Amino acid sequence: MSAESSPRAINGRAPDVFRPSGWVAMREYSEDEPVDFAIVGSGAGGGTLACKLAEHGFSVVALDAGPYWRPLEDFASDEMHQSKLYWTDERIVDGENPLQLGSNNSGKSVGGSTVHFAMVSLRFRPEWFKSLSVLGYGADWPLDWREMWHYYAEVEQALKVSGPVNYPWGRNARAIRIARTN
Ligand SMILES: Cc1cc2nc3c(=O)[nH]c(=O)nc-3n(C[C@H](O)[C@H](O)[C@H](O)COP(=O)(O)OP(=O)(O)OC[C@H]3O[C@@H](n4cnc5c(N)ncnc54)[C@H](O)[C@@H]3O)c2cc1C
Repeated sequence: MSAESSPRAINGRAPDVFRPSGWVAMREYSEDEPVDFAIVGSGAGGGTLACKLAEHGFSVVALDAGPYWRPLEDFASDEMHQSKLYWTDERIVDGENPLQLGSNNSGKSVGGSTVHFAMVSLRFRPEWFKSLSVLGYGADWPLDWREMWHYYAEVEQALKVSGPVNYPWGRNARAIRIARTN
């Protein structure tokens, strides 16, 4: 069954993305059954939020415009094959100076761009939280960078980001290393 021709997450099960041809159980709700949350978009933001809410006992429905890929079978993990994941439909961000989103910075798929996420997870540098007063441009954040540190850790854990924590570029690389060990 092609991911694009008919929905794969249906009848109480969804593809197991870690096992070729495998399935995992999926809770389904009928159209007239009320749920606590309906989330549009199941990418890095929506998917993580849906997971957290479900873990806390809420009933959640996540809707996505894209197919449910089986990455182990549907494409190789290289840039050429990943292009079928890219959202190339017109997407204009509204406002006075609208941005037109590019292809390879958003994914149309259950899992969104994270289906081909490279796991590079950079933290905002301490001085950027005081951009105006320390660096002379932009604006200062209304919170101290240390407040963000446990949220970063939570997200990195949720997305299972792993690997070296050293940020090798920039003069404050050492400060960040020290901050992460605190
Ligand atoms: C190939 C690739 C590699 C990347 N590698 C990295 C990396 O290593 N490190 C990093 O920090 N970032 C990386 N990114 C970027 C990162 O993955 C994205 O910034 C992040 O996933 C964005 O999260 P999001 O939830 O905003 O959007 P997305 O993850 O793109 O999710 C948006 C979801 O919403 C759905 N959607 C949108 N509109 C609708 C609608 N109207 N109805 C229903 N569904 C809708 C889409 O189908 C999609 O699933 C990468 C991106 C790509 C494409």
